[in-house]
Amino acid sequence: MDINKIRKDFPILQEKVHGKDLVYFDNAATTQKPTQVIDEMVKYYYKYNSNIHRGVHYLSNKSTDGNENARKIVQNFINAEHLHEIIFTRGTTESVNLVANSFADRYIGEGDEVIVSEMEHHSNIVPWQLVCEKKKAVLKVLPFNDNGELLVDQLDGMITDRTKIVAVNHISNSLGTINPIQEIIDIAHARGVKVLVDAAQSVQHLKINVQEWDVDFLVFSGHKLYGPTGIGVLYGKENLLNEMPPWQGGGEMIKEVRFEGTTYNELPFKFEAGTPNYIDAIGLGAAIEYVENIGLDNIDAYEQELLAYATEKLSSIDGLKIYGTAEHKTSVISFLVDGIHFYDMGMLLDQMGIAVRTGTHCTEPVMQHFGIDGTVRASFSFYNTKEEIDALYNGILKVCKMFVH
Ligand code: PMP
Repeated sequence: MDINKIRKDFPILQEKVHGKDLVYFDNAATTQKPTQVIDEMVKYYYKYNSNIHRGVHYLSNKSTDGNENARKIVQNFINAEHLHEIIFTRGTTESVNLVANSFADRYIGEGDEVIVSEMEHHSNIVPWQLVCEKKKAVLKVLPFNDNGELLVDQLDGMITDRTKIVAVNHISNSLGTINPIQEIIDIAHARGVKVLVDAAQSVQHLKINVQEWDVDFLVFSGHKLYGPTGIGVLYGKENLLNEMPPWQGGGEMIKEVRFEGTTYNELPFKFEAGTPNYIDAIGLGAAIEYVENIGLDNIDAYEQELLAYATEKLSSIDGLKIYGTAEHKTSVISFLVDGIHFYDMGMLLDQMGIAVRTGTHCTEPVMQHFGIDGTVRASFSFYNTKEEIDALYNGILKVCKMFVH
C-alpha cells in the first residue's frame, strides 16, 4: 500500500485546520471521500441526472443503470445471493428502523422477545424499544465484560421460545471490539431465532460474506465506507423480505394503486418508497470499488499496525486509560486521562489540527457500564500514518502539561 499516493486521493487531507496540518482521527464517525467518489457523483450531476426507473429517455436510463449497477456492486461486496436482497436506505439508522418495524409487524407479538447487546449504538437500541413498546414485547440485553467483550456464553440461556430476533453490532463504535458474529448467528439459529448484524463499523475494515455467515439481515451506511452521506444498505434474506410488509408507502413501492386496495412492487422496490437517492447510491458504488481496489485484507493489516502502534504509545502516557481492551479490536481507541475532561482534551487537540470525537458516541449504556460520562475517541483509517499518531501522542502530552498545576 502506497499511503502517500492514497492520501493524494483525499483532497481534504491536504487542508490546514487552525493553521496546522489536519490530522483526521474521526473516521468512526464518518470517513473522508476520495476524488474517485466525488468525481463520479459530479459526473452524474453534470451529464446524466434524471429521475430513475420507468423513464423512457436517455438520461433516465443512464441514471437507472448507474443506480442498479451500484446495487450489483453492493451485492458482490457482501456476497448476497440475489440482487433484490439489497435495499437502498438513508443509512444504518433507517435500515434498522425498517427491519424493526416491518419484522415486528409480521413476526413480533405481545410477550415476544428481542435481544440486543449492551454495546449497541443507540440506532440499534431505540428502534427496537419503540417496537417493543408498541407490541408489548420484551427487550433483553446481552452484557459485556470490562474489556468490552460480549458475554456470548450467556446468549443461549437468554433465548426462550418467545425470542424472535437478536440485533447486534459486528464492531462497536465506541470500544472497537470485533464481536464473534458467526458464533452468535449459530447460537441464535440453533434456537430458530433470526439475527440482524449492524455492520456500520465493519464493512470498511473487514470482508463480509453474508451467505457464509448465513445472517438474516445486515445493515450499514455509505458515509463510513468512504462514500456519500444519505445512502445506506439493508441486506435481507429473500424469503424474509418477501414475507415482511412494506414499511413506508409512496411511489416506486407499488404495483397497482386502487382506493379499494393497493398491491406492492416486488423486491427490492417494495422497500424503496419515493425517489431513490440514486446519485449517492452511485457514489457508494464508486466508494466500494475504491476500497476493493486497495483490498480489505491490505486495509485490515495496515490498520491493525496503526492500532498496535497507537495503543502502545498512548498506554505509555501517565494517567491515560483505554476503554475497550478486547483481544479482537479494530482501529478505534477510546480513552480518558485522569483529571482532564474529554471535552477539554478534544478542544485542545483540535487547536493543534487533530480531529477526535468526544462524548458518549451514541452508546450511553457503554458509558454507564464503565461509570463515565464519555471518552475521547481516536479512530484510524488506511489513509492515516504513524507520524499522525505521533502528533496525537505529543498533543496529548502537551494537554497533560497544561493541566499540571
Ligand atoms: N451503528 C453503529 C455501530 C455506528 O457506529 C453508527 C454511526 N455512528 C450507526 C449505527 C448509525 O449510523 P448512521 O448514523 O449512519 O445511520
